[in-house]
Amino acid sequence: MRQVNILYGPPASGKTSIMGAMGGELSYVSVGDEFRRELRDGTALGSRLNAYLSTVREYPACLIGKLVTRAIERDNPEAVMLDGFPKYEREVPILGRIISDTEAQPGIMVELCLSLNDAFERTRQRFICSECGIQQITATQCVKCGSDNLLKRDDDDDIFFKRRYNDYIEASNVVIPVLKEMGFRHVPLESTPENSPEVLAAQIKSELERAKA
Ligand SMILES: [Zn+2]
Repeated sequence: MRQVNILYGPPASGKTSIMGAMGGELSYVSVGDEFRRELRDGTALGSRLNAYLSTVREYPACLIGKLVTRAIERDNPEAVMLDGFPKYEREVPILGRIISDTEAQPGIMVELCLSLNDAFERTRQRFICSECGIQQITATQCVKCGSDNLLKRDDDDDIFFKRRYNDYIEASNVVIPVLKEMGFRHVPLESTPENSPEVLAAQIKSELERAKA
């Protein structure tokens, strides 16, 4: 049985590094990455999504559902990890639809916990990839897309960061209890500096094994 899992965490909680440390045994689906892939491949879905880019802030829910379903079915993995989706309560029914369309079942819901101060401290030493928006410590080449166009944060980024952090906390406080009701097992993990991405990846792996059993 295919298992759908979800990874939540505020900005700078290290989601990308943790998934990198998990290796290829799990398919990692990020709405943003899938959107960029559809655009790059010039698909009909990509151009429909792109039409919304210039007009509204949020994409229509049904298109996100199509995007995620397509990603899950493309890799046909036994287990998939969704990156921060669904973010809002209104997106939960889309997840329900995705789960039934892909004949999956709810697995674990990892919540990376990191205080605003710790998250903020992390971002202050970081660079942002101008291509894919990923934050990283390295100043030479993006760990995700390989671009060498890395920028240092400025004060506007700091204000934006705090807003994004608070937005995440507000949304996750609502959506996590709803997903628990749906059958997702809540796994809170501390994303502190002592817990490296490798340590957290190992914890997530053993939780996934438990969920399969
Ligand atoms: Zn990049």
